[in-house]
Amino acid sequence: MRGREGVQEIHDLHVWPMSTTETALTVHLLVPGGYPGDAYTAGVAAALKEKFGIDHATIQIETDPGTPCVLESDKTV
Ligand SMILES: [Zn+2]
Repeated sequence: MRGREGVQEIHDLHVWPMSTTETALTVHLLVPGGYPGDAYTAGVAAALKEKFGIDHATIQIETDPGTPCVLESDKTV
């Protein structure tokens, strides 16, 4: 995901099983260029499903590097 256009940082990445067949994921993406739009997050969710079989992705977009996120210490770099 870090390789995606406009993504500066990823944090609070969690993946867990919802059931024996379904997987959930949450992640925060820092995109300083501004909110990239619903099609962007839909594309990330589709890629997660295709590459990793993740059925339920929740993607939070943050746009201001100067506003600390309470979960920013949980970085995935
Ligand atoms: Zn965050």
